[in-house]
Amino acid sequence: MIVKTEAIVLKRMNYRDTSRIVRLLTRDFGLISVIAKGARDRRSRLGPLLDSLNHLQVVFYRKAGRDLHLITQCDMVHRYSTLTEDLARLGPAIAILELAGTASRAEEDGQPLFSAVADSLKSIDEGNDPSGVLLRFEMGLLSLLGFRPDFRFCVRCDSPVGPGSGTKTANFRLTTGGIICNPCSRSETAWQEISTSSLEVLVALERSSRGDSAYQITCPQDVYRESRNILRFFLRTHVDGMNNLKSETVFSTLE
Ligand SMILES: [Zn+2]
Repeated sequence: MIVKTEAIVLKRMNYRDTSRIVRLLTRDFGLISVIAKGARDRRSRLGPLLDSLNHLQVVFYRKAGRDLHLITQCDMVHRYSTLTEDLARLGPAIAILELAGTASRAEEDGQPLFSAVADSLKSIDEGNDPSGVLLRFEMGLLSLLGFRPDFRFCVRCDSPVGPGSGTKTANFRLTTGGIICNPCSRSETAWQEISTSSLEVLVALERSSRGDSAYQITCPQDVYRESRNILRFFLRTHVDGMNNLKSETVFSTLE
């Protein structure tokens, strides 16, 4: 069956002499791989378009149950041109692609994840703080996958813990999917303390991921790092394949 959908190029690799295999996050079919025959031939129209980060409209022969589909046509919907020119933007953009590629599955309705990725790339391209956009994407991803943590109440006794509750720091227990209050943490063995600044960011992000506000974060690097580590912890806990993200190594090099 010939189908048409929007797609964002996650990755491409050479195949045989002139072809390429390209991994796409699609709006209608989730994660798919396509083969672009002759894409490395300089006369190919497809080849130059099939670059990472490009937002395309693609036409391909879809065979149910197959891992690889034949792409026959593509057109540019949007090229996020500033992303490849600036390392500070490219790093978070690549991390978003990697997270999306790891979390998405083939043959599923890719609409919510596709929109989250496209909106995030656009937001970075428009000049919003790349680290903030990445954090927002990670919180949104947890939410899409059904694992959104609640940072406002103790997961054990339900008492308010977050900013505004009167506590200066909160003990955040890493094993239960949420925050834990000081008294409850006394009987726990595995928790880590997080700063009020990071907690404020996480609470605001969580509210924003529910659509309550259009929150754009700007905060010091150490708060980004702490907040990202916490969200990555949740992703690693709940989603297969999140343990070996290449973009995480890249970040530790840049920081
Ligand atoms: Zn408690």
